[in-house]
Amino acid sequence: MAPSDDYAPSSCFGNLFSFKKKQQSASRRSVAAARNAPAPSYYPAASEKLPAYDECVTKAFEHLDVKGNSEIENIVSNAIEGVSDELRTISLDLHENMETGMKEFHAHDVLTDYLESKGFTVTRHAYGMKTAFTAEYSNGPGKRIGFCSEYDGLPGLGQACGHNLIAISGLAAVIGVKAVLESGKASGKVILFGTPAEELSIGKIVLVQKRAFQDNVDVALMLHPAAYHAERGAMIAIHDVRLEFFGKASHASAAPWEGINALDAMVQVWNSISMMRQQLLPTDRVHGIVTDGGKAPNVIPDYTSAFFFVRTTEYQQIGRLMHKMEECFKAAALATGCEVKWTWREIGVTKNVVQNGPMADIYKEYMERHGIQFPTPAEQAATGGGSTDFGNVSFEVPSLHPMYGIHTNAANHTIEFVGAAKTEIAHKDTILASKGLTITAIQVLRDENYYQAIKSDFEKSIRSDNDGLMM
Ligand SMILES: [Zn+2]
Repeated sequence: MAPSDDYAPSSCFGNLFSFKKKQQSASRRSVAAARNAPAPSYYPAASEKLPAYDECVTKAFEHLDVKGNSEIENIVSNAIEGVSDELRTISLDLHENMETGMKEFHAHDVLTDYLESKGFTVTRHAYGMKTAFTAEYSNGPGKRIGFCSEYDGLPGLGQACGHNLIAISGLAAVIGVKAVLESGKASGKVILFGTPAEELSIGKIVLVQKRAFQDNVDVALMLHPAAYHAERGAMIAIHDVRLEFFGKASHASAAPWEGINALDAMVQVWNSISMMRQQLLPTDRVHGIVTDGGKAPNVIPDYTSAFFFVRTTEYQQIGRLMHKMEECFKAAALATGCEVKWTWREIGVTKNVVQNGPMADIYKEYMERHGIQFPTPAEQAATGGGSTDFGNVSFEVPSLHPMYGIHTNAANHTIEFVGAAKTEIAHKDTILASKGLTITAIQVLRDENYYQAIKSDFEKSIRSDNDGLMM
């Protein structure tokens, strides 16, 4: 299929967002021309008009003939339902025995042992990370599908992001694809990446740096539980910085004039950032904590430290916030006479997620047939303030990262979500969403036209998103 114009079905997906992208690219060019401009002349807004969404999807499905194939869907459904009880046991185990990033030793062993018992070729401690792994199965030449499992939790909370469910959704998906490969109805390979430390935004960035996805899979998919459904969940870019001020200690009452107050510098930074927020875009985020505020009330603090996160909807915009933050740091040092040091995260920026349109649409179509309702694309673009290291994957291979609801109103990273992540209904929601993700992936193995549409959508998105980091 050779997409020739904006109305050809394959480019319809591109067209779906090309209106928005064209506007963004045009304004980005003008921003790039005036690189010192403090802010871009746009920000992604829910109010932007999108082309007729349903029309595009309908056209594409007609052309690609990717309406539900009941035989394949039965194979996937039976395979996943057949292991549902086992997956439930693993999910509760990971919930009960929560481990934090890069220390998920129990999860690593439970998941790899299970995958080996199901006939996958397992590589433990993959890519130089003790708690990473891969598990693969192939029945011959063809496309290569990658899924991701996560399994780390949050210190002090537990599985407050439901990564126990993400872990088993990856298991379910590869088991579903393997069943189809074994049936002879498709040919190719499936790989599950066990990706540690998502909450620290490390695992997948290391995997990308080591070309784990680029060299081994044609597409990458994963799921994430939430309070809502979104086949194109908005996940934004994030970077972090550690800040230190160095002053001079002195008796805080007898000789305060002899001191240089590092806490004053920190207060100054805090106030500067608070004031700066008025000039940030509504989609920008800056948040942080003071990690050292001094040792004793009767000593002028000679050392203070803080830890900040900055986020923007597109990673190229992070440089703008980095610059503003650094100016606040320098100003506080100048005002107080302190020395200042800041260190941006060495591993680099966690990018926003580029959701692949054609894959999102197949997933959505399957889920809608099973009773799930989705917010509009514009509503989805306006929600979400979270970030994931899967963003860096999504700039390397066509990717999909839907959010799926688990019958809770609780936000991720709350104690209420910890409870929601272990309910029977959340398990059932995970099983359904895993089937939807598997069906989406199977289509890549079976339909070259569909894969070409995926690739074309990916190349368009990445081209317009890869204009470089703006300072
Ligand atoms: Zn999460």
